[in-house]
Amino acid sequence: MIKCISCGKKYGLDEIIYTCRVCGSILEVICRPEVSREVFECRKFTMWKYKEFMPVDESKIVTLEEGGTPLCRCQKLEDKLGIELYVKVEGSNPTGSFKDRGMSVGITKAMELGVDAVGCASTGNTSASLAAYAARAGLKCIVLLPSGKVALGKLAQAMFHGAEVISIKGNFDEALEAVTALANEGKLYLLNSVNPFRLEGQKSIGFEIVDELGWRSPDRIILPVGNAGNISAIWKGVLEFYEAGFIEELPMMTGIQAEGAAPIVRAIREGKDDIKPLENPETVATAIRIGAPVSAKKAIRAIGESGGYAETVSDLEILEAQKLLARTEGIGVEPASAASIAGLIKLVGSEKIDKDEKIVCVVTGHLLKDPNIAINACKQPIEIEADVEKLSQIITKN
Ligand SMILES: *Cc1c(COP(=O)(O)O)cnc(C)c1O
Ligand SMILES: [Zn+2]
Repeated sequence: MIKCISCGKKYGLDEIIYTCRVCGSILEVICRPEVSREVFECRKFTMWKYKEFMPVDESKIVTLEEGGTPLCRCQKLEDKLGIELYVKVEGSNPTGSFKDRGMSVGITKAMELGVDAVGCASTGNTSASLAAYAARAGLKCIVLLPSGKVALGKLAQAMFHGAEVISIKGNFDEALEAVTALANEGKLYLLNSVNPFRLEGQKSIGFEIVDELGWRSPDRIILPVGNAGNISAIWKGVLEFYEAGFIEELPMMTGIQAEGAAPIVRAIREGKDDIKPLENPETVATAIRIGAPVSAKKAIRAIGESGGYAETVSDLEILEAQKLLARTEGIGVEPASAASIAGLIKLVGSEKIDKDEKIVCVVTGHLLKDPNIAINACKQPIEIEADVEKLSQIITKN
């Protein structure tokens, strides 16, 4: 069943609905399978390992074997920060971001519903992922992107997988409003994270983290927050495993936003349960450049219920954390993803995080999503002839 998170109104799993018809609030899928965790044993490590918890018809699954991403222990950063640190590398998904988890479930749902066109507004990764999964399913795909604000790698993916890409003169929030209106007219099936089936896929990040830690929850999960779907989804995932009796503790959900796009951090500081939209969000981390996060209510609830925290980081802190992770641990992530590491560093510095905590930082997208940022952060390579003498002079000098 689908349920309104505010008034509790219930809807059927096969209704095409994005917000509550009674009160206008956002919806969630209720999923309570009766299985023991032994059923997962010996299954391939993709997010479909936990298929009993996915509210779709198993015979219609559209998958690129998303999920099953690395959980890398980061010892050098541990030594620097004095905590126990694991990084969940979501850039290892088929199109290079966690969006693939949500799209696998979302497109499977689209096939169940028998729609012929899907669409989204996107800062980039949602469109890259939707384009690939729509291609795999044989569905028409329309994506609306904020003009000039989409990282090159993401744009290349959306176009190359054959989506109809439309550049909108406006920001993400305006593009989302437009595509939502199209969906409400029945012109396409909306696969932004307002669609609660997206979060059903993304909750598998929470499943995998506790599974890989030996059916133990970390003390804290830190991640970047844009539209706030992912933090809500991961919390839903760990809560479902907790309620099923698979784990005995729960993590503190900790959301990080960029200073120029932080409506959720502001709402939490003011003690509110919903945000006031921000007109002109701005940050180098384009994946979280969002002023009116759709899942704000769920995220604020997740952070509150879990005893977590919300913090902002500057663009400079984001770019420094991106470089630090790449150069000390070999993990290349796009700027938005590095917000989780930047937030971790800031919260350890301000003693909001205890020294003995076991922490998982989710890094959400691959370095190559935004190649311009990476290249601009580095010195140009020296160009010389392939002359051994000159070469050895240069390498000894450097
Ligand atoms: C979508 C995205 C985010 C933000 O996730 P939300 O669910 O919108 O909060 C963060 N990082 C990357 C790389 C993304 O693609
Ligand atoms: Zn309602």
